Formats: sequence, structure tokens, C-alpha cells
Amino acid sequence: MSAPLMTETPERVLAVYAHPDDPDISCGGTLARWAGAGSAVQLVICTVGDKGTSDPTADPDQLVAARVDEAKRSAEVLGLGGLHLLGHLDGDIENDRSLRAELVRIIREVRPEAIVCPDPTAVFFGEHHYNHRDHRVVGWAALDAAAPAAASPLYFRDRGPAHQVAAAYLTGSLEPNIWVDVESTIERKIEAVACHRTQLSDAGDWISAALREGAEHAGVEVGAKYAESFRRIWLAT
Ligand SMILES: [Zn+2]
Repeated sequence: MSAPLMTETPERVLAVYAHPDDPDISCGGTLARWAGAGSAVQLVICTVGDKGTSDPTADPDQLVAARVDEAKRSAEVLGLGGLHLLGHLDGDIENDRSLRAELVRIIREVRPEAIVCPDPTAVFFGEHHYNHRDHRVVGWAALDAAAPAAASPLYFRDRGPAHQVAAAYLTGSLEPNIWVDVESTIERKIEAVACHRTQLSDAGDWISAALREGAEHAGVEVGAKYAESFRRIWLAT
């Protein structure tokens, strides 16, 4: 039984998320911490974020171009070693064989010790919010791709040699069981989220305050000033 505050750093990490701003908001402090500690951290963004606006006159092509640029800049801020943009459309993504094949190929190339992805079982958050379908779809697809598919040599035989991921770290979970201290990287998380200008309705410090508040709330659980929480599932022992 390990302590709920995680101090070790996985050697190689693959984060898998739906939209360009999801990883920064969900676990940007942890990804920056691990990258800063020498971990090779790569990121998969499954969609292009083409519907991420409330403006009916917005040009989707322009929005996509801006969001790709934002994703690249935020990956630099977090110190990531690789960014894989799969290019699916918002709302159209499915946990089907095609998506799992794409993810298995990347997992077998990157060969991560840990994957990080949304908790697909987290649906209802209080009385005012439920989880976006793309987050749920990508969470299940990432888990299904990691195990058994990527770990089993007879799955997707044309997508590289099998690789066993040791653990999955699920974000946005209603059942967290492990926390990472992000006091040293909370500023970079805020900076990374701020790269996504298309997703911020106005200037100001509200997003910074909201991110600090969320990290403070998570930190209370483990006596840290700022933390991010995960549901860790061991895929191999
Ligand atoms: Zn999202």
C-alpha cells in the first residue's frame, strides 16, 4: 500500500486527451513536474477542437488553426517531449477499432510506463455539470488501447511490438486515490492554460484564481499547498 502523495516520477509518460486544453486543466502541473524531473512526457490530443466556441459566426478552419497553435505553445510551456494531434472532429470521435489502432501505435512507439487520461466513469459532477462525451470516449479508448490491446502481441500486429503500460492515472475522477504535489509547477500550469486564448472568454485573473482554488482544494487531502489528484489503476505489477 503506497502513500496517497506520489513522489516518484514515471520514466516515460503518455497523456491522452480529447481537446487541446484538456490536459493543461486536468493535470498540467503534474505533467510539467514530471517533465522537469527528467521524465519523457508525450501528449496525444484526439480532436482538433473545431466546435470549441459559442460564436455562431466563427470559422471552424480558423478556430482549428488557432487551437493547434495554442496546443503547441502550451506543450512547450509544460516541457513536453512530443505532441501527437490525431485530427478528429469534436463530437464525432468514437471508441472504435480505428481510434484504438491509432492509440496502440503511439503507445507501442512511446512505450510509456504510465498513461494519463480522463476517468471515463466520472459522469455527473454535482447538480450543474456532467462530463463531455469526448472526454468519456477518449478515456475509455485510452484504457482499452493500453490493455489489453497494446500489451498483447496478437492485437494490431502491424502497429509495432507489444508494450505493457504499468499504470493508468485517471483525471477528473470522483474516486481519486493518489495525489501529486504541484506547488513547484502551478505557475506553469496556469501559463499553459492561458495559452488557449480561444477558450478564454475574457482577460483577467479569474482562470488563474480558479486553477489555484482547484489545486488548493486537492492539496488539502494530502497536506500540500497545491496538488492534482488521480485515480491510479495498476495494469501490471
Ligand atoms: Zn475538453
